[in-house]
Amino acid sequence: MASVRPATSPCIALEGVGVSYAARGATVQAIADVTLDVAEGEFIALLGPTGCGKSTLLRVVSDLLAPSQGSVSIRGGSTADARRANDFGFVFQEAALLPWRTALDNVNLPLEVVGYPAAERLARCRELLQSVGLSKFEQHYPHELSGGMKQRVAIVRALAWNPSILLMDEPFSALDELTKNQLQDDLLEIWNRERKTVLFVTHNISEAVYLADRVVVMSAHPGGIKRVIDVDLPRPRTPGMRETLAFIEQVRLAREALQAEHRTPS
Ligand code: ADP
Ligand code: MG
Repeated sequence: MASVRPATSPCIALEGVGVSYAARGATVQAIADVTLDVAEGEFIALLGPTGCGKSTLLRVVSDLLAPSQGSVSIRGGSTADARRANDFGFVFQEAALLPWRTALDNVNLPLEVVGYPAAERLARCRELLQSVGLSKFEQHYPHELSGGMKQRVAIVRALAWNPSILLMDEPFSALDELTKNQLQDDLLEIWNRERKTVLFVTHNISEAVYLADRVVVMSAHPGGIKRVIDVDLPRPRTPGMRETLAFIEQVRLAREALQAEHRTPS
């Protein structure tokens, strides 16, 4: 069926998306009937318990996995086209830096791969590392960096070729509380500057609220969207906001939605 897209199609459109995996001769429905439009430049947090299909959702958006049902489009086109156009940047829980490359060379690697002009690579890498306060560490190897520093390198590596969509899968889960808060602020600063469309996966409620424009609360068995919460907090978000009643109220709403999910018999 031919469909006419409005002039302003969403950046990411999921329509009735389902994914089933074949495992040990059985089929597991990982996610079912996920419908969501993400606007250009929007910051979305996907919040849900382990196993509810958050990573699966990132995989179908980024063309690493084809949906079993429904469709996904990026700016009205296919996810495959978006991937070929290097529209996606990824950050995972593990920084996954190459241990034999310095911080600078780790950021440089994707630029080599996508064929970024050689003459501009060094300046680009330096500018990126500087933007997260790591100028002094560009010649350090991963084992010489703290967990938070490694994750900063991973973030700017994902931004190196200037992808328009940032997919982040529990990037701060392994960090201690203070480092995590610092990285959240670093990320928001980058996002304020560059306005990427962000899908940020987390199971941390206050992290989701602090970062996102909308928190998409997911349910499990099979994974789906339980509730979408518009985060009613001004931008820019600042550390002091974490102590405000408004923030605490938003966290309460999100927790309620999550708990309702936990009480649902499966
Ligand atoms: P989350 O990221 O929210 O923890 P996942 O997307 O990793 O959830 O997984 C969702 C569901 O799909 C889980 O039940 C998981 O066991 C299952 N699953 C994920 N990947 C595979 C796979 N490659 N093969 C079989 N089952 C999988
Ligand atoms: Mg996951």
